[in-house]
Amino acid sequence: MTLPMESMYREIILDHYKHPQHRGLPDPFDAEVHHVNPTCGDEVTLRVRITDGAIAELGWEGEGCSISQASTSVMSGLVLGKPIADALALQEKFLGLMQSRGEADLTEADEDELDDAVAFEGVSKYPARVKCALLGWMAMKSAVAEAEGNAS
Ligand code: ZN
Repeated sequence: MTLPMESMYREIILDHYKHPQHRGLPDPFDAEVHHVNPTCGDEVTLRVRITDGAIAELGWEGEGCSISQASTSVMSGLVLGKPIADALALQEKFLGLMQSRGEADLTEADEDELDDAVAFEGVSKYPARVKCALLGWMAMKSAVAEAEGNAS
């Protein structure tokens, strides 16, 4: 993969790719989802356990390109332990960043909140790779929705 993004961002992505966070599938769990990105061949299986309205456990297994795997790693580190509402708000924010086509106008507060996920800003210029970066985030969103559905 060669994308002309700032080298610091590339470092963050490669570091997460080589040392993914929260890999492995927790058991027990409330919901498991499997998402694929057929255009690139990326896959992720993700499990969550919800306790008191927060993401108490989240783990995943996956394969595919460095962007998809690194983004899932970043996402899991950011949302684990967070209240569901905060996790979904962050997902919305990341979705907005990915749909910005490189024109994102992030405030300092946005950057603080997105943390390492800001490293994927450059990816938004490449529509073919946007789905790679979103894969794990979409999986988290559906897993949470499914877990909440099971609970009620
Ligand atoms: Zn990919």
